[in-house]
Amino acid sequence: MYHCNASGRLPWKDPHDPVVCELGRGYDGECADHLVEMEPDTHLWALWENDRFTYAVLRPCCMSDPTVDPVKREPCTLFVEHPPGHSWEFRDMLHG
Ligand SMILES: [Zn+2]
Ligand SMILES: [Zn+2]
Repeated sequence: MYHCNASGRLPWKDPHDPVVCELGRGYDGECADHLVEMEPDTHLWALWENDRFTYAVLRPCCMSDPTVDPVKREPCTLFVEHPPGHSWEFRDMLHG
């Protein structure tokens, strides 16, 4: 699994600080970049498709890999019901 890695420039942010899609490559829909954790259960994401940008407050996915030793499991950092590919399934680093 590889990151979508599409970048976007939020109209209200520094153009030198693009958002980068953290979702898995090959899905159909909006791109998403995690912006900030407001509370453990409340994360702010930027979503975009072409030139249309929105904010979304989403709950974290938190699924972990059942095949990994429970002490080493890392919860998924994406949001609930994200397109296929949990954060721990990616083999590449994010790059914008
Ligand atoms: Zn994307
Ligand atoms: Zn996940």
